[in-house]
Amino acid sequence: MKFGTKAIHAGLEPDPTTGAIMTPIYQTSTYVQASPGVHKGYEYSRTQNPTRHALEKNLAALENANHGLVFASGLAATDAVMKTLKPGDEIISTNDLYGGTYRLFTKIFEGYGLKFHFVNMTDLQNVESHLNENTRVIWVETPTNPMMSIIDLQGIANLKKGKDIQLVVDNTFSSPYLQNPMDHGADVVMHSVTKYIAGHSDVVMGALMLNDDELKDQLAFIQNASGAVPGPQDAFLVLRGIKTLHVRMQRHCENGKEIANYLKNHPKVDKVYWPGFEDHPGYEIAKKQMRDFGGMISFTMKDDSVEYSVKILERFKLFSLAESLGGVESLSGHPASMTHASIPREERLKSGLKDSLIRLSVGIEDIEDLIEDLEQALG
Ligand SMILES: *Cc1c(COP(=O)(O)O)cnc(C)c1O
Repeated sequence: MKFGTKAIHAGLEPDPTTGAIMTPIYQTSTYVQASPGVHKGYEYSRTQNPTRHALEKNLAALENANHGLVFASGLAATDAVMKTLKPGDEIISTNDLYGGTYRLFTKIFEGYGLKFHFVNMTDLQNVESHLNENTRVIWVETPTNPMMSIIDLQGIANLKKGKDIQLVVDNTFSSPYLQNPMDHGADVVMHSVTKYIAGHSDVVMGALMLNDDELKDQLAFIQNASGAVPGPQDAFLVLRGIKTLHVRMQRHCENGKEIANYLKNHPKVDKVYWPGFEDHPGYEIAKKQMRDFGGMISFTMKDDSVEYSVKILERFKLFSLAESLGGVESLSGHPASMTHASIPREERLKSGLKDSLIRLSVGIEDIEDLIEDLEQALG
């Protein structure tokens, strides 16, 4: 089955009692048993819920994985992965990553004895030189956030071949439409479902997709034991959003390309970070592991002052200034003070994230209106 057909149909059956084509919202905490332990596979909604299960099956199919598990947020999904580890275990992570992930790793899990190495993974040597017998997880975001660097997934998978190490890819920026990390050697794919997958800025949710049965059992145990599960209403909203994921992504990509080129040719703009430029250092790898280049774009101005960037952000009319990304509406953000404020300034500058950098999540509005908004805000 091709992607769009999977988005609409995978894992979904008409409701057996009524034939309803949309998966019903099973808004229930518990399920009646005929006799102690005799039930229909559902006991309590932290453990199992039919609406959630339908979504989990659908998400697994979108990432070409055998299993899907959903969590109350993207960070709750990441938290579950870290809980499979024990003190002394080491994690090699992208240095240019989502601020909340960095905060979870350093402020919570370092305290429990996990050791993190944040490295620039565009050079695979930096990964190789940190590998040792304690390494258990390699945590990758690609394209990176917000510098839009591309990391070679197959290259990293080759480095850890034959070792007891999980390659986990936070695929939020690409969505399963643009990139399927399992096809390039990843063991686990993580998503902030909140973003492109749900797509309508109305849900917070996370997901893990994977093949390994044993690891799936361990993560499902944590999902139930720690209890960070989403409710059935949210699962329904995400199932509904996914039905148009491929169509939305096509427009995100079209608009993203137009805007990246517009910014590149703008006399006041200094650098534009978008992996679809042929002179982007990761272009060839992006072409290999992504189907298209997406609608996430970062840029800096020749006048490299925070005040100027703030002025632009205040002037936007359509590019609303807000945290998050991947919704149908265009958003703008200032990573240094918003999404990445929890990363120390020296760390941010090391990965090239200037205080003046502006990040755009290009939505699916009409391109003429988006360009007009940029024109007036930069003017
Ligand atoms: C938003 C985001 C997260 C965290 O997800 P939540 O759903 O907000 O918990 C993780 N990684 C990336 C790349 C994100 O954009």
